Amino acid sequence: MRSGSSGATAMLVEGAILDADGPRPAYVRFQDGRVVETGKIGTDSRRGRDRRVRGIVIPSPVNSHTHLGDSLSVREPPPGPVAKLVRPPHGYKFRLLSAASRDAKLRALRGAFARMARDGIAAVVDFREEGVDGVRLFRQAAATSGIRTVVLGRPLRRPVDPRELRELLRVADGVGLSSALEESRATRVAVARACRARGKRYGLHASEARRELPDSYLDPRPDLLVHLAKARPADLEVVRDARVAVAVCPRSNALFGRQPDLRAMERLGLTVLLGTDNAMFHAPSIWRELEFAYVGTRLRHRPASARFLARAALVEPWHWLRRPEAARVEAGMPVPPLVLRLPPDDPEYQVVTRTTEHLIVPLAPPRRERTAR
Ligand SMILES: [Zn+2]
Repeated sequence: MRSGSSGATAMLVEGAILDADGPRPAYVRFQDGRVVETGKIGTDSRRGRDRRVRGIVIPSPVNSHTHLGDSLSVREPPPGPVAKLVRPPHGYKFRLLSAASRDAKLRALRGAFARMARDGIAAVVDFREEGVDGVRLFRQAAATSGIRTVVLGRPLRRPVDPRELRELLRVADGVGLSSALEESRATRVAVARACRARGKRYGLHASEARRELPDSYLDPRPDLLVHLAKARPADLEVVRDARVAVAVCPRSNALFGRQPDLRAMERLGLTVLLGTDNAMFHAPSIWRELEFAYVGTRLRHRPASARFLARAALVEPWHWLRRPEAARVEAGMPVPPLVLRLPPDDPEYQVVTRTTEHLIVPLAPPRRERTAR
């Protein structure tokens, strides 16, 4: 008998939903990997005839700041300040990149995508160095990953060559610059203008190793700031009022002895996204980032809430990507959610501190089973 389309790929998850509307007890019914129904436990239309799983259903997470290209190296970073390691064009990282073959970079990128796919990551926002070619390589590696990519490339020539920038924006989703410390105002203005004119994104790192003045990194206004580890609360207020989203990377900062003040960011109401930064320093695992971010703020006696951190991985990035409907678990949602085999108690705390990729329940049986007769 042929395994019918109704039974074999249907699944009922009973437990809780954690999404843009917060946590709540609920059931979620899946058909062929898509949400077809949600509601109060015990009221599902199939009355328990589907395969049942107990768990928590969440929007698929987004990794909002990476440099996946540097997953070329997985070794302990050499001693020295982070600026020396990652500063263009001759820092440790850039020497690694320029010494590697195209094939080696492609393999490294594909490995990073595979890791993220196993982690259930649905989208990634990457700062890609190496100009137009760097973006093309990234696209090639991402093509079969199933992960949505926002790739912010970086023009190589200074002063900015309008032709190179135009070419870059043809293949990239925007530009991600090093920082206002390393890039002149003329460069930032040229980049921001070109991005704006083409409806693309402009992002840059700010106040990572030392404090910078908001006037420098907010002028011209970016779509995304990364780090703000050294920003003062007054700086954070200016960023909030400018309505610029901030991607934070607590593990990357911790490796060099600093932390963003997530508690202040939460209290002041900034839009915060979570990222894993340089793949040469850390695996691009949003679950490890979440747990570290949470515990790290407690260790420093500056606790941020599990709710705030869960939103930084599951909700805010979808708004930033202009796909808010992907952050709400309901029938017809455009990006399939994740089902985690976790008890339904206190979903925010559990998702932030207990999730690993092993808890992800596949939404449909493996392809072989599905086509079996
Ligand atoms: Zn970065």
